[in-house]
Amino acid sequence: MKLFQEQEIKIYNSLSGKKETFTPITEGYVGMYVCGPTVYSNVHLGNVRTFMSFDTIFRYLKHLGYKVRYVRNITDAGHLENDADVGEDRIAKKARIEEIEPMEVVQRYTVDFHNILNTFNFLPPSIEPTATGHIIEQIELIKSIIKNGFAYEVNGSVYFDVHKFDETNNYGVLSKRKLDDLIHNTRGLEGQSDKKNPQDFALWKKAEPQHIMRWPSPWSDGFPGWHLECTAMSTKYLGDHFDIHGGGMDLKFPHHECEIAQNKAAKGQAPVNFWMHANMLIMNGKKMAKSTGNFILPTEIFTGNNPHITKSFTPSVARFFMLQAHYRSILDFTNNGLLASEKGFNRLMDAVKGIDTLQTTNSTSFNVLDWKKKCYDAMNDDFNTPILIANLFEAAKHVNQIKEGKATISAKDLELLKSTMHTFVFDVLALKDQASEIDSKSNKLSGTVELLIKLRQEARANKNFNLSDKIRDELLEMGIQLNDSKEGTSFSTN
Ligand code: AMP
Ligand code: ZN
Repeated sequence: MKLFQEQEIKIYNSLSGKKETFTPITEGYVGMYVCGPTVYSNVHLGNVRTFMSFDTIFRYLKHLGYKVRYVRNITDAGHLENDADVGEDRIAKKARIEEIEPMEVVQRYTVDFHNILNTFNFLPPSIEPTATGHIIEQIELIKSIIKNGFAYEVNGSVYFDVHKFDETNNYGVLSKRKLDDLIHNTRGLEGQSDKKNPQDFALWKKAEPQHIMRWPSPWSDGFPGWHLECTAMSTKYLGDHFDIHGGGMDLKFPHHECEIAQNKAAKGQAPVNFWMHANMLIMNGKKMAKSTGNFILPTEIFTGNNPHITKSFTPSVARFFMLQAHYRSILDFTNNGLLASEKGFNRLMDAVKGIDTLQTTNSTSFNVLDWKKKCYDAMNDDFNTPILIANLFEAAKHVNQIKEGKATISAKDLELLKSTMHTFVFDVLALKDQASEIDSKSNKLSGTVELLIKLRQEARANKNFNLSDKIRDELLEMGIQLNDSKEGTSFSTN
């Protein structure tokens, strides 16, 4: 029996505005799509927070025994400045400024994205498709949408006809916006006069002569609209109707609203059962965002090299800090918040290590099975990581009481406590005891250098000065200096 057959998950569905029981379309399998980064700059901590929420969800679903196909794309074309239909492509703009190829920009920031996510101990998605790798699929989708009467061509560009769509469908079903209100709130056409209505959005844009990221199509040499790539890639790998679609709250409108419209217009059905939106990381009361300069880079957290923080923090402490907030809550990035999380993280890690030192007795003074159930209940309730962490701290308290002789645990319960703690701390929350990892690395280094110091002393005693000098000089080349004194030899590293 798989764990998912015992555990009932409830997920907050942005579409209904309610928590709903999660039942996958195909028993035992979950299809999940998450909008990936636009690779034109380094990911900031806000981006990381959204991807971390879905990494944790991916991990928990896998832990429950689901076979999860997790698709997270790379946006490497079509995302224009200001998320608009006119303007420069973000990647092409960066390439122009840096005087490199757009694909060099893409490569550089895709590598950065992967490195950062690895540092935070993310699992790779099952498939990571790129927008430029799916131009043909996007063109085919446009053809279907035109054929079904929901798009029109003007001067080589193709636009989605939002008004026509809204006659028979509900444009605004996800964002709860009304087309009438959108019309009311739109000012003029502002250079977008090819469109029938300002609410229409581009499916294909004819490339201006200076626009270098372009592909042939039945309508013009051009490029796809930003919303289209996610419809093409999600349905290609997960089918026309799949379980979960996620992304940051800021993508709900227009990006996800347009995805729903495109899918309904092309394939006659809504694509997704559960729409999940992660809330924003803010700093100084404002959304963390590249465009406003109000952001902090993950590497700045690891080095402490940023005026907003007083010291460096390990990736696991930063991860713990973010998971102490529920994914649907706004999280305020502060130095004090990180310091408090570091303390909590260390306390939790001490407890996890402490489990191995506990003495067992015949009876247990607290209900371990009940505690384990509370851990699952927390995650089953819309992936409530802060409640889960509160339960892990409760276990830490028991571990300390047992250590102090104020509580007891049986061998069987100790095994259960240990395996449950390990599951949630290491597999689901994906924390790593990096401090002790560093300690154990430096212990190994000291041991090795001490051994070389001993061999050097023996070489000297045997008057083998060639060897003793070789040891000293080669260590120095590696940045390890041997310091001889009357008391013996010590070493320092630089
Ligand atoms: P982008 O590369 O701009 O498309 O963003 C990648 C992902 O990061 C999207 O899912 C955004 O919703 C998300 N994101 C951007 N800014 C923040 C933030 N301040 N907090 C949380 N998520 C964010
Ligand atoms: Zn998307």
